[in-house]
Amino acid sequence: MGIPLTDEQRMVADAARDFATRRLAPGAAERDRTARFPLDEIGALAELGLLAMKVPIVDGGAGTDNVGYALAMEAIAEACASTAVILASSNLASKILSDHASPEQKERWLRPYAEGALGPASFALSEPSCGSDAAALTTAAREDADGWLLNGAKMWITSGAQAGMHVVFARTGGAGPEGISCFIVPRGAPGLVVGKEEDKMGQRASGTVALHFEDCRVEPSALVGARGEGYPIALSALGAGRVGIAALSIGLAESALAAGVAYAQERRAFGRTLGEFQNTQFVLADCRTELDAAWLLTLRAARLLDTGDKAAAESSMAKLFATEACGRVVDRMVQLHGGNGYSREYPVERIYRDARVTRIYEGTSEVQRLVIARDLLRSTSR
Ligand SMILES: Cc1cc2nc3c(=O)[nH]c(=O)nc-3n(C[C@H](O)[C@H](O)[C@H](O)COP(=O)(O)OP(=O)(O)OC[C@H]3O[C@@H](n4cnc5c(N)ncnc54)[C@H](O)[C@@H]3O)c2cc1C
Repeated sequence: MGIPLTDEQRMVADAARDFATRRLAPGAAERDRTARFPLDEIGALAELGLLAMKVPIVDGGAGTDNVGYALAMEAIAEACASTAVILASSNLASKILSDHASPEQKERWLRPYAEGALGPASFALSEPSCGSDAAALTTAAREDADGWLLNGAKMWITSGAQAGMHVVFARTGGAGPEGISCFIVPRGAPGLVVGKEEDKMGQRASGTVALHFEDCRVEPSALVGARGEGYPIALSALGAGRVGIAALSIGLAESALAAGVAYAQERRAFGRTLGEFQNTQFVLADCRTELDAAWLLTLRAARLLDTGDKAAAESSMAKLFATEACGRVVDRMVQLHGGNGYSREYPVERIYRDARVTRIYEGTSEVQRLVIARDLLRSTSR
């Protein structure tokens, strides 16, 4: 990429790539076929510190910056997008705790989680009737003498059936964003009912379920941050999370492009390799250029997050461009494979299915455009 990296960022990326190549890539197709959640692999990733990457070392995490996180996410997704999205939602949840939990909550939940004792974590914001319009959520948390009682449902929760803890957003006040608070709900909390696994198009080894709260009882200490602060907590975590999804989609596209380049060099038609056709060369050149542009936007957003600068629109630009570029690259690589691109024998078929959801979760492309346009119209000078 020609972008200067620190030794630490390089080490994180190398460790992630080494693990991904040895432990994730060989079983990715089989996990996709059987929709097997990579629980053992997630345990090993916890030992490497990849489940709590952005959690400071004092709280038991790896203390990685956003650039290192993006590099690691790309490397993992190149091998297995399902594992990458499990890491993405786990890191989203754990970053919220490291930023907003009390010292007691960190000792009780964050440290054991970072050590791998709790498995993955989930981030539970979306509901059956609202995803993009998250401020309209209706899951309610009512305070009583024994703590909090939660009622309602969450939808599409990554690792919801496997997570040791859930970071859940629920309404504690009136309508709108000000009425939302953030809670830690442990696995097996009384009244927490886990729905069946969704039968998804792609990223099939990542578990995705609904969570039902039926008079779900949690302790008074389950509230994270102040009452009514849940929405800004969710939004700021999602802003940084989008950089991770941008990197994840670059990883997917890089693996498709590598497969396409190899195929173009060996497959022959009309007496020459596909790579000798100028059309193929132009397609590959466009893919490489778009992916490098996606990288630059992603690393810019990660750097801004690391320096504490304004990064909301930049993170959305990275997610929008990288996920849309991923869709184009992967589609072109299926086309380049001809009929073989439509067969489960070839990895591009799985990558094509895995790629589609990156334009939907952690904010659809339309939502990213809203964030970018709002910032543009609000700013008086750039
Ligand atoms: C595999 C998978 C994993 C997921 N994991 C999680 C998770 O771990 N935690 C979690 O909380 N959620 C998760 N989600 C949910 C995901 O974030 C939502 O699906 C997403 O935010 C879109 O919400 P929605 O499905 O309700 O669509 P809707 O909000 O109903 O949107 C439908 C369509 O309308 C468009 N639209 C909506 N509003 C506007 C507008 N104002 N202007 C223009 N267009 C608009 C959208 O872009 C979309 O195209 C996951 C989803 C999937 C598929």
